[in-house]
Amino acid sequence: MSELRKDPITGRWVIISTDRAKRPTDFVRESVQMKRNGFCPFCYGNEGKTPPEISAYGRNGGPRDSSGWTVRVVPNKFPALGIEGDLDREGEGLFDRMNGVGAHEVIVETPDHQSTLATMPERAIEEVLWAYRDRILDLKNDKRFRYILIFKNHGEAAGASLEHTHSQLIALPIVPKQVREEVDSSRRYYLEKERCMFCDLIRQELESGTRFIMENDYFIALVPYAPRFPFEMWLLPREHSSAFENSQRPVLASLAHILRENLKRLDTVLERPAYNLMLHTSPIGEESNEHYHWHIEIMPKLTKVAGFEWGSGFYICPTPPEESARFLREAEADAAESGQGSERVDLTRIPTLEPAFLTG
Ligand SMILES: [Zn+2]
Ligand SMILES: [Zn+2]
Ligand SMILES: [Zn+2]
Repeated sequence: MSELRKDPITGRWVIISTDRAKRPTDFVRESVQMKRNGFCPFCYGNEGKTPPEISAYGRNGGPRDSSGWTVRVVPNKFPALGIEGDLDREGEGLFDRMNGVGAHEVIVETPDHQSTLATMPERAIEEVLWAYRDRILDLKNDKRFRYILIFKNHGEAAGASLEHTHSQLIALPIVPKQVREEVDSSRRYYLEKERCMFCDLIRQELESGTRFIMENDYFIALVPYAPRFPFEMWLLPREHSSAFENSQRPVLASLAHILRENLKRLDTVLERPAYNLMLHTSPIGEESNEHYHWHIEIMPKLTKVAGFEWGSGFYICPTPPEESARFLREAEADAAESGQGSERVDLTRIPTLEPAFLTG
């Protein structure tokens, strides 16, 4: 029988399919490959093809928009929101509106077109995390912004339009609903119990061990109890910490390690899947608190979101999180480097909500 589970943080229900559990090889996906066909605006020599850079690391004194950098931050060429102007918040009867003011930046993680966060050296990933931190701290000076979301689309199936590995940042004049729900829910929990819900969750998951993947000096990686997607994973600081951007060097070094390690494991278990990664930290103006615990969510792109999910807000996860965690825990992180793969499965087996799936 399948099982309904509720995520304690968001209150979101999911359906975990237990008797038709999908193993890693049951998912069809295009492995993400860096082919380098044609022109790439993120490679050395093409700096002039992006909007003028915001910042760059590793260049040691060379001119702006020249090569020699290790991490480079540029405005998105086709921004979702524009940096100029006032918000002009207005109500029109029932409707609220404001101008599309915000920042939309691209963090090019490496000049090497073939690399990914799973294959880059830890030190280089740490520098990417520093770029995240620096950009958040800088954009927080702009009083129009309430939230800065950093995310990553890896692979075309996960929405990446350019294959050269990069992350994105969007500064928003409002706190997004998903984050607001997480923050408000953890605040209510704190008011009642005077404990952080995430800290409680970490303690409980460490004790049970069934959804635990790994830990290092400062972080723990686990599969959530009620994941929306198979092989969804969360990376959390082991000690309470409410704002990513206040992390110091040893913390970011530790994060670089656990991030790389887990992305390698994903690559091993699921043969280099496309994925989305999101950084959730406290909203601007409420960074220092005892209730919200920043974290990274990673979701490999294996399933489709369709009518049932849109209509209900429920997700159907065809792999029990305990199974996902076991595969990830046991994955030899280094196996990905040897490039071994297994046979591809046919496209019809991408799980969507078929009637039999619910009734069976
Ligand atoms: Zn490139
Ligand atoms: Zn906490
Ligand atoms: Zn979150």
